[in-house]
Amino acid sequence: MKALQYRAIGQPPEVVEIDTPEPGPGQVRLKVTAAGVCHSDEYIMSLPQSEYIYGLPLTLGHEGAGVVDRIGDGVQNIELGTSMAVYGPWGCGMCYECASGKENYCRNAAKLGIAPPGLGAPGAMAEYLIVDSPRHLIPLGDLDPVQNVSLTDAGLTPYHAIKGSLEKLPSGATAVVIGVGGLGHVAVQILRAMTAATVVALDIDEAKLNLATDVGAHYTFPSEPGAVDMVRDLTGGRGVDAVFDFVTNQATLDLGQAMVAAQGDQVLVGVGSGTLPVGMAATTAWEASIRAPYWGSRSELFEVLDLARSEGINVHTETFTLDDAPAAYEKLKNNQLIGRAVVVP
Ligand code: NAD
Ligand code: ZN
Ligand code: ZN
Repeated sequence: MKALQYRAIGQPPEVVEIDTPEPGPGQVRLKVTAAGVCHSDEYIMSLPQSEYIYGLPLTLGHEGAGVVDRIGDGVQNIELGTSMAVYGPWGCGMCYECASGKENYCRNAAKLGIAPPGLGAPGAMAEYLIVDSPRHLIPLGDLDPVQNVSLTDAGLTPYHAIKGSLEKLPSGATAVVIGVGGLGHVAVQILRAMTAATVVALDIDEAKLNLATDVGAHYTFPSEPGAVDMVRDLTGGRGVDAVFDFVTNQATLDLGQAMVAAQGDQVLVGVGSGTLPVGMAATTAWEASIRAPYWGSRSELFEVLDLARSEGINVHTETFTLDDAPAAYEKLKNNQLIGRAVVVP
């Protein structure tokens, strides 16, 4: 089968021919219908050898969807031909966190060598994908796989981040989204669907700000220091109740910190290199909270798919064939994608 692999440190990913995998006991093989392109892929491919821990060659793709095509020994209660979304942050299935559906925070995954597809295990940018357990499959039902595959990360990650701040976002509150890319443009829609807060979007790119307006942001501003006063003015000087930062370089962390209100939340979702000082000597507003969430729980993925059905969350997608997938990564690197790139094998 064809697969898109990262094969050598610092080199672009390549389309290669590899053996079609067979499902082992307890596993499920999907015929892939769609795979999303995430900035985290670009991040891991930018790491030097000394920090790269994902194995080579690595078949990319941690946002996956497919149709059940073959099942391994012992797999029950799953029908061939069912259209599925893949829950990506695979855990051990046995620990307390996994029992609560929070496999993203599995306490055993690292020591057992369990890694998500596309981030250690072979990923979804291929004609077929092996899913380690039926537990990691959620039926898509009537949701189109190409339009919705990115809800497994670009939807689930902001959903989890926002859910953790809902009590800070009653009507009258203000939320800021920094970085209106794949995750950020879904974050704007989730905020509109789940809260009555005023939603403000910041980005460095005008086309992304236009996308933010199209998907429901009340206000957009260029992401630069002057945005602090403009956003504070909207809140009568008080500051904002929650900042969701999908960039987290030093510039955006500083912007967020300067905007957040007393008792507000600054939620760091991006995998950037900035850091924030905390403590009484730091300039953060009183009792503001900072957290850096990772992906989301299994039950939250059910909730995201239901939200997409009931509220019409729309991922703005640009599709690529598997042969053209390297071009999708090139566009991502150059910040030329609007919304999410989706590879359709
Ligand atoms: P993306 O490339 O689609 O979007 C990034 C957006 O940020 C773009 O619109 C870009 O114009 C904008 N941007 C860049 N610099 C900016 C600045 N200084 N101010 C404001 N906007 C700026 O990326 P994505 O796939 O949406 O991923 C976003 C981030 O989230 C990445 O760092 C990714 O690695 C990370 N991520 C984290 C998790 C998690 O679990 N925490 C999960 C998925 C992705
Ligand atoms: Zn991702
Ligand atoms: Zn576990």
